[in-house]
Parts: sequence; structure tokens; C-alpha cells
Amino acid sequence: MKEKVEKQMELVSKIRATDSADVARLVIERHFIRDIRGNLRKFSQQEFRCTSCNEKYRRPPLSGICKCGGKIIFTISEGSIVKYLEPALLLARNFDVPPYILQNIELTKRYIESIFGREKEKQEALGKWI
Ligand SMILES: [Zn+2]
Repeated sequence: MKEKVEKQMELVSKIRATDSADVARLVIERHFIRDIRGNLRKFSQQEFRCTSCNEKYRRPPLSGICKCGGKIIFTISEGSIVKYLEPALLLARNFDVPPYILQNIELTKRYIESIFGREKEKQEALGKWI
């Protein structure tokens, strides 16, 4: 995924005629946003698992613990949902993408924050992605 993006953006810098803002828009729409949305959907439909006996639950037990006394955990991690959020924001802010793209990502970010709580925005070099 990251490699795919890097290659695409590398290609852009080679082909001068290509509108890099347009490629940034496509990468954000086709990869990042699609991926984030897909993982959010999976998160809302996920199962829960006991760390001790591996018993699976459609819904976490009200007691918060497994019938064996083990700890219940999510099967879809927050990390899998948020991992493309910052790179998507970076791309959107550094390329002249249409305003609705940036708004779309910021709305998605707010939605994620409403589920997981707010996290300090990580400072990441754009070079990591391009
Ligand atoms: Zn258990």
C-alpha cells in the first residue's frame, strides 16, 4: 500500500505533464479513504475475543470479562483504521486537491475521534509517503 503510493507519486514527478494534484486526489480517494471506510465498517461489525480461552463473542459480555475470567479484546485494532488518516491529510494539505477532499478526510477524522477519542496529531514528514 505505502509502496504503491510511493511508486505512483514517484511516477508523477517523472512525468511532468501529469497533474500531481490530480494524482494526489486519486490516491486519497481510491486508496486512503476507501481503506479507512472499509476498516471502520469492519470495526463496527467486529467480533470480540477472549485472550485466555480464545472464545469468540458477537457482542462483548455485559460483565466485561469472559466466562472463563479472561480479558475480552477487539479483533479489529484502532491502528488499522487510523493508519492512513495522517498520510491522507498530509497529501491533501501538500497538494492542491479540491476542498471537498480535505473536508471529507477531516470529517472522517472527527468521526474516528468520536469513537476512539482525540489523539495528538502526529508530526510526520511527507517524505515518508512520497
Ligand atoms: Zn475465555
